[in-house]
Amino acid sequence: MKTALVLGAGGFIGGHMVKRLQSDGFWVRGVDLAAHEFEMSPADDFVIADLRDGALVAELMDLPFDEIYQFAADMGGAGYVFTGDHDAQIMQNSARINLNVLRAAQAKGLKNIFFSSSACVYPQENQQDPDAPDCREDSVYPAHPDSEYGWEKLFAERLYMAFNRQYAMNCRIGRYHNIFGPLGTWRGGREKVPAALCRKVAEAADGDAIEVWGDGRQTRSFLFIDECLEATLRLMRSDCAEPVNIGSTEMVSIDALARMIMEIAGKRLEIHHVEGAQGVRGRCSDNRLIREKLGWEPTAPLRSGLVSTYEWVASQVAQNHPERKPPAI
Ligand code: NAD
Repeated sequence: MKTALVLGAGGFIGGHMVKRLQSDGFWVRGVDLAAHEFEMSPADDFVIADLRDGALVAELMDLPFDEIYQFAADMGGAGYVFTGDHDAQIMQNSARINLNVLRAAQAKGLKNIFFSSSACVYPQENQQDPDAPDCREDSVYPAHPDSEYGWEKLFAERLYMAFNRQYAMNCRIGRYHNIFGPLGTWRGGREKVPAALCRKVAEAADGDAIEVWGDGRQTRSFLFIDECLEATLRLMRSDCAEPVNIGSTEMVSIDALARMIMEIAGKRLEIHHVEGAQGVRGRCSDNRLIREKLGWEPTAPLRSGLVSTYEWVASQVAQNHPERKPPAI
């Protein structure tokens, strides 16, 4: 039986990956600082551990794991990474995790690691035009990410590639572009825009206004979790050693995203634009490289993933406000 180690298994993507690997027949050890917030992890072995502790990380690698998935990071949406209030913490925590993981894996002879990088590595100058952002993989240098979160991801990418070169490891690097779906953080300050807008719509009554940060004309693309898992596994098992975008090319404005969620919810709401962290003006995955290297690109439209995401967030809102029943969709 094949074995996998999923780091950050208590989080959104890691939690889904545990289930996907198990359904593919893997025995899975999951590790996180905390248990999964929304469900009991089905991992065959779930260890609560702090990956900033190098000795602990080495202990966790006591099996000849076929695959290691490194999702653990100090992270959140725009309200967490763009305020400046968490910069030192984000850089220090995530860098320590990645340094520990690589050192321990190399020492134990574990070679196959997937690292979850981010679209936040791309230079801010290339993302000023909301209609034509440039996120080709090779546009990343000269580097100028718009957040310290992005700089740490860029450092970590280089670290994984350096271990590939010096120790003949097979690290694979996916640059995720806004992954969304059920079982993700939807409140508390770390939530990302699809979950935050689903929550605002679910909490609103017909005729209310929901708040959107900025002018709502900033653009992004969003990838549903199932597609993300598929691309991640394909990349992990490929011979593609360079960083690759994992995202969708269906670019929408934040206002359009909000309106799509309102339509799914069957609610007529106003949009009220307010000051708030926004990041770059435009960002969209460029999928030419992943098509060429893996013969893959996402197939499902944004709306289909939003339907199940809205349904799940609405059910969470209803549990927290029993007077608001999830709408039938
Ligand atoms: P998440 O916050 O839900 O999951 C990250 C997990 O890491 C959390 O459960 C957290 O407890 C754990 N963690 C943090 N510090 C730890 C430590 N010291 N020891 C052990 N566990 C620790 O985030 P996610 O959305 O699942 O993202 C997974 C990865 O993908 C992250 O590295 C993130 O930067 C990257 N990524 C995600 C997106 C996205 O849209 N979700 C986009 C780009 C990149």
